[in-house]
Formats: sequence, structure tokens, C-alpha cells
Amino acid sequence: MPRILKNYINGNWVESKGYMVLDVINPANGQLLGKVPAGSKDDVTDAAEKSHQAWSSWRNTPATQRIQYLFKMKQVLEANTDEIAEICTKECGKTFSESKAEIVRAVENIEVACGIPKLLQGEFSEDISSGVDEFYIRQPLGVGASICPFNFPIMIPFWFMPYAIACGNTYIVKPSEKVPMTMTRIFELFEGLKLPNGVLNMVHGGKETVDAILENPFIPAISFVGSTNVAKYVYQTGVANGKRVQAQGGAKNPVVIMPDADEETTVRIIVDSAFGCAGQRCLAASIVITVGKASESFIERIIMAAKARNTGNGMSQGVEMGPVITKESKERIEKLIQKGVADGARLLLDGRETKIPGGEDGNFIGPTILDNVHSESEIYKTEIFGPVLSIINVDSLEDAIELINQSRYGNSACIFTGSGAAARKFRHDTLAGNIGINIGIAAPMAFFPFSGWKESFFGDLHGQSLHAIEFYTQTKVVIERWHDEWTRKF
Ligand code: NAD
Repeated sequence: MPRILKNYINGNWVESKGYMVLDVINPANGQLLGKVPAGSKDDVTDAAEKSHQAWSSWRNTPATQRIQYLFKMKQVLEANTDEIAEICTKECGKTFSESKAEIVRAVENIEVACGIPKLLQGEFSEDISSGVDEFYIRQPLGVGASICPFNFPIMIPFWFMPYAIACGNTYIVKPSEKVPMTMTRIFELFEGLKLPNGVLNMVHGGKETVDAILENPFIPAISFVGSTNVAKYVYQTGVANGKRVQAQGGAKNPVVIMPDADEETTVRIIVDSAFGCAGQRCLAASIVITVGKASESFIERIIMAAKARNTGNGMSQGVEMGPVITKESKERIEKLIQKGVADGARLLLDGRETKIPGGEDGNFIGPTILDNVHSESEIYKTEIFGPVLSIINVDSLEDAIELINQSRYGNSACIFTGSGAAARKFRHDTLAGNIGINIGIAAPMAFFPFSGWKESFFGDLHGQSLHAIEFYTQTKVVIERWHDEWTRKF
């Protein structure tokens, strides 16, 4: 019997009060890994109440003591990297090294959050008037929650949670119901931190759980990462309920190749960017825009490099690309490829017939490349979230930027060039939140905000770093006067 995962509430593993459970499936071979509760409002109510009760004591714990738990958290993740990465690969499909890389990113965020005693400091102005001083302090909000997508089961909760609890909030993590096992194991390991009960909680489930979070009066701040339509819904509903929401959405990331780009670096990086994590990355390159003669020199080399990519089970040695997450996702991607061809694109590399020994029940699609893609076609406009790269050619950098700026998404945009002037223009004029210059995945380090514009982000403050700290605190301004004859006379 596969085990049914439990929620972690107030320091205890508790069964969900909901009746429905969902299968957790290994996307590389169709194996049933476990079952996860589909969620229930009662689970969220319980977690939010217990977390709220824990808050008053946690917020009064000095920041220097709160971060001691984060130091241990980092050590636990590092000491158990292989075990966590294996669970992640089994339920999410990415390669073992991609799973390990997620842990590095999670740890980097913990490290930044360990600077809270300094980062949380307010500002002080003496004598704003005779004998009067003014300052502000940052105070935690209460119970925070993050609602997470399937594609980074380890990293994404750490864009928010370490900052939130370091600032003195208590917290609820809701993993994606498609990949709930990794965070469950991490929470089991985190029991060794001996955090006070209720500070860190986890509730499983899907839409019902999300809706309960959006409605719960004890949860004032929500971080969401997922597809654009759900991000918009979460943002609008949360804000209408008086909450603070940051919601990171979907993407369709363009990469511009100028004719003067370095061939070897550009091809290697673009293929990694497009096909790493089977294209299931919010920063994945999904459109290549060749400028002028770049189409002649680069396309053939990109195809060759993509063909050489080793697709298979992410736990096998030498595999560079795993399956996509579900059968439905594979079917959807295949239909989009077919639609692209029907709309006039040329299929230069077709990954649809990829067969993996032992992976007959897996959701494999090999690297796929289409050119002659029209900017009005569905394949150009839709986030495919699979190993599919569309190529389009334009005459000039200005044309490329104009095309990019028309997109509904603005998560990232990259350029490959040998020209500082072209790079500068691109950085200056392009409407996207994360810019890469001779970089394929413009993923901000933990000490920068993880940006994102247009329909790739709803809200004001992003995840990571100072933005996360600002998001999970509110400023209190104090103006004070003390004795000294109450007001100085000059
Ligand atoms: P998703 O939107 O399907 O799910 C995300 C979360 O929302 C899950 O926890 C899920 O349970 C919940 N959810 C799903 N449907 C819901 C609904 N109707 N109402 C309420 N909650 C709902 O996203 P996904 O497929 O898990 O993840 C892939 C998406 O996430 C892609 O679009 C990708 O671009 C995006 N993403 C964005 C970033 C970023 O930083 N911008 C990072 C990673 C992933």
C-alpha cells in the first residue's frame, strides 16, 4: 500500500481532514510513489490557528536566536542533499544533478536570511524638530504562506520561508500536489531543528487548500508561484480579502542571437537553457530570435547540440534531460507542436517519438526545434513548458526588442552578442524583469530580488533578499519626545 502523506501542523504529523487523495507518480516510469491529500479547508484552518498561536512567542524571540534555527536548516539540507535530491528526481523527473542544484539555491536563500539581525534594521533621524526624534522599525505580519508549483519542489519555498520566519513570522508551506514528497521529507528532517511548535507548518492539497489560504483571516501574507492564470486569480482574490500577495506567474522567454555572438558559448548555453529541466523552468529559453545573418550560422549548430542531448530517467548516469511532469502535459505539448506545424512552422527536430528503454510508461519528449515560427501563432505565444524551442528571424536588434516587448510575459530576456552597445541597448529597452547578457538562465542570486514583469508577476515586492524581507514585515514609524523640558527652547 503506498503511504498517504500527512500534513505537518504545530509540530505534529496529522492526517488530512479531507476525503480525497491524489496519486503521486514518477514521471520517468509511471510508478506510483505515494498518495497526497487533495486538501480540505479544515486543514488550513487548523494550521493557520496553531501557527497564529505560535506567533506571539516567536516574534518576541530575538532575531539573533531565530537565525540559529536557520543555520541548522542549512546544515540539514547540505547533510542530506543526496537523499532529498533523489526524492525530487523521482517525483519531478528532473535529473539528479538538477535536483542537487535546487538545494544549493535553497541554501543560498537561507544564508541571506541569516543576515536578518542587520537586514531588519530600521532608520533613525535625530532632532526632526527641537527635542523630537523619528524612526521606523520593521515588524512581522503574523502567519505567512507560500503556494508552490511542481517544477522546483525544493528551491521555491525557500525564496520566501527563511525570510518570513527570520523576520518573526510563523509559516505554512503548501507544496504542489504533483510533487509533495520532497517537501514532506525536508519537513521530517527539519524536526531535528527543534523549532518551537507551530512556527513552520505544511499543508498538502490543490485548489481547495489554496482557496482556504486565500480566505483565512489569520494569514495576512501569501507568496504564490505558478502559472499566470492561477497567479492572477490568487493575487486578485487575496488582495480582495485584504491580504498582501506576491504572485509569480508563467513565462515565454526570448533569447536574441546577434551575428557577432560567440558561437560555441551561445550554442552551448542556449541548448542548456531550452532543454534543461525538460524546458520546465520559468526562465527557460523558449524562443530564439536570430538577428540578420545569425540565422545562417547558429541554427544548424543548435540542432546538432540539441540532438546530442541525452534524454532518460533523471536517476541514470549521464542523462541530461528527464521527462515532463504528467501524461496530460506530454499530450498538451505534442498537440502544440502539431499546431505549430499546421500554422506554418518548420519542424527541424522532432522529439515526439523519443523512446527510452524502461521508460515506456514515462512522459518523455526529446528536444524539439521549430523555425519559421510566426509571431502571431499559438506556439509562439503560449507557454509550452516543455523541451520545445521556437526560432524566429528578424532584421535588426530594434525589431527583436519590439517583438519581445509585445509579449504578455516579462519574466526574462537574454541576448548573446560581442557588442557592448547592443547589450546596453537591450538591457535598457527590453520589457522584462530578469535580463541575461551572454547568460541563458538569468536567475537572480539569493541576494537579489527574483524579478518578473507584466503577466509574469502580480504584486509589488518579489521573492528573495530585501524584497522578501520588506514583503514579510510592516514598517512602524515612531516620533518621540522626551523630557528635557519637553521641548527645547532656543
Ligand atoms: P499551477 O499554476 O498549475 O500550480 C501552482 C500552484 O497553484 C499549485 O500549488 C496548485 O496546487 C495551485 N493551483 C493550481 N490550480 C489552481 C486553481 N485553479 N486555483 C487555486 N490554486 C491552484 O503551476 P504548475 O504547473 O505547478 O507550475 C508551472 C508554472 O509555474 C509555469 O507556468 C511556470 O512558468 C510557473 N513558474 C513561475 C516561476 C516564476 O518565478 N515566475 C517559477 C516557477 C514556475
